[in-house]
Amino acid sequence: MTTQFVAFSGGIDSTALALMLPDATPVFTDTGDEFDELLAHVEKFERVTGRAIVRIQGRVVDEQLIPQTLPEYVQEAKFLPNHGARFCTRMFKIEPMNWWLKQRLPAELCIGLRADEPADERVGNLTQLDGLGIRYPLREAGWTRTDCIRMCLTHDLLPRNPVYMARGGCKGCFYKRKAEVKAMVQLVPHVVDELQAREEAVQDERGRYFHMFPNAGASIADIRAQPALFDLSEVYRAAGDSSDKGEACGLFCHR
Ligand code: SF4
Repeated sequence: MTTQFVAFSGGIDSTALALMLPDATPVFTDTGDEFDELLAHVEKFERVTGRAIVRIQGRVVDEQLIPQTLPEYVQEAKFLPNHGARFCTRMFKIEPMNWWLKQRLPAELCIGLRADEPADERVGNLTQLDGLGIRYPLREAGWTRTDCIRMCLTHDLLPRNPVYMARGGCKGCFYKRKAEVKAMVQLVPHVVDELQAREEAVQDERGRYFHMFPNAGASIADIRAQPALFDLSEVYRAAGDSSDKGEACGLFCHR
């Protein structure tokens, strides 16, 4: 019997796909560098739907899944993933997923590519295993971004990610834009502490400094020294501060 699985990333599209296919098993490959908000969404999906999400974490070595995370590997290898070496996806997403699927063939893996995405923008899973079928049910059904959002909203499962994870992905993802990194610096400094320690741990005698966030064009220490995007104390004015003498509009909005 062919079992159906959904590649679950925790984003809008894969959440909608998992909801569209209530009999399929969602499978989430956890790099070990996931944001708490993403992990909370995985747990919320389970709570709301009563379905279990399979979590796979580790690296495949000699046909075995060994317990290692992406941050641990980066520090051991002293090598950051980058635009020219995207080993992170291969080693901590695709290979563990394939290792897991191989033991469950014949199977069908469903991937959340939408109908309104250009065919060449995201190639999806290129896995080719005998006995594994790959399907794109959102595309087959003509679902667009709006349809996916509507499905997530219907189940109160729309991921509402903060600005520093606007495009999802790992905490230390080299695709992050400068503004996302600067937002992390301001809003989740404890995460940036962890990333800065990781970036500094991979430097060695190679004679150049390797940036975790090449799009930001600076080391994490230097990004932290740059002017902030906005003044947080202006946004979160202390409770009891009466300097803002606006008119109160009513009982419910606290203005
Ligand atoms: S989100 Fe970024 S760092 Fe994480 S696996 Fe994907 S490309 Fe690599």
